[in-house]
Amino acid sequence: MSTFKAPKGTYDLLPPDSAAYLAVREAIAAPLRASGYGYIETPGFENVELFARGVGESTDIVTKEMYAFETKGGDRLALRPEGTASVLRAALEGNLHKAGNLPVKLWYSGSYYRYERPQKGRYRHFSQVGAEAIGTEDPALDAELIILADQAYRSLGLRRFRILLNSLGDQECRPVYRDALQSFLRGLDLDEETRRRIEINPLRVLDDKRAEVQKQLTGAPVLRDHLCDACTAYHEEVRALLTAAGVAYEDDERLVRGLDYYTRTTFEFVHDGLGSQSAVGGGGRYDGLSEMIGGPALPSVGWALGVDRTVLALEAEGITLDLPAATSVYAVPLGEEARRVLFGLVSELRRAGVSADFAYGAKGLKGAMKNAHRSGARYALVAGERDLAEGVAQLKDMESGEQQAVALAEVVDRLRQTV
Ligand code: ATP
Ligand code: MG
Repeated sequence: MSTFKAPKGTYDLLPPDSAAYLAVREAIAAPLRASGYGYIETPGFENVELFARGVGESTDIVTKEMYAFETKGGDRLALRPEGTASVLRAALEGNLHKAGNLPVKLWYSGSYYRYERPQKGRYRHFSQVGAEAIGTEDPALDAELIILADQAYRSLGLRRFRILLNSLGDQECRPVYRDALQSFLRGLDLDEETRRRIEINPLRVLDDKRAEVQKQLTGAPVLRDHLCDACTAYHEEVRALLTAAGVAYEDDERLVRGLDYYTRTTFEFVHDGLGSQSAVGGGGRYDGLSEMIGGPALPSVGWALGVDRTVLALEAEGITLDLPAATSVYAVPLGEEARRVLFGLVSELRRAGVSADFAYGAKGLKGAMKNAHRSGARYALVAGERDLAEGVAQLKDMESGEQQAVALAEVVDRLRQTV
């Protein structure tokens, strides 16, 4: 072991476990790719102001969790704590919204950074796959995103997740509700910080996890009773489309989510096997965000799913993904001449699309066969001097133990057909 360890709140993805992470990313991305979402990649850091404005000055993410720093050149930057603000910034900067085809549908995958108290499922470096549909107000688009996330989780075999759904209203009805909620909250027995929150972002008080706070919240005004007709109709349509698609959800009028930019549809995916870090993903509509960061009005909707917690959810359900072995053929040469011949065959196999590996280094037959077993390869390709003299190699089926001589000239074709 070296003197250095991974920084607090981070962990390394090492093989073989890392394969499950890749598979989760791929499973989340697949339905998006098949639904018109294009891949976008943005820098790992942005001007700190983008997040301050885009995520919200009063959010935990901006006030407590952001890795903000000043560069030697005096730029004030932050490691990205989430994806939406960056993706919208990039779409606007690249004029994707002017190309004529709205919504602009994008998906991304990457690392995110938050200075949090590390615990199981909560890290300082974590990974998300996200999707954003920019520039269109259409309940079918909100429904599409929720359906695609549901499809992704199901394709992984997950069953014990639930979808929580709410509407946060819009510029018309939310302020009226906000006033009503503030009056209610001001009458409660709350600490200083929470009292300040009432004035800045009262909806987030509803999200307070503390029992003594939650207890006082019974009887708080409910947003649903304040939604304007347009928001109610919109929300009903989202719900109807989900139901028609066979996607089960639960109405959760307390769901406000941690970000300031949400309007109308908000949702969260929770998994019941994860303890207190139960949210595996979340998202919603953010009709005002573009204008908040200096762009035109572009009503949009999106989500981000946490890869780390999705992997934990798989573990909680006892699901092992059916991943193909990384290596199909493992070549074991005996002697110098065989090394050259088998190394050449391994390269040919790879070019022919057969995954293959080779016993590197000076190992005896026993050590090399051990490595062949460890690699998970279905076949070992073994050759020594006598085999070469006969123009063959021994193809050993690692499952049945059966072994058979195959002409060197036919090895690639034979394996291409069998694996
Ligand atoms: P939480 O309420 O657990 O703090 P959040 O609302 O901050 O979650 P989002 O900003 O909506 O989370 O991010 C979407 C998803 O990213 C989460 O549902 C979760 O799966 C994942 N995620 C967020 N923060 C972390 C973290 N610190 N470590 C691991 N995964 C995270
Ligand atoms: Mg959080």
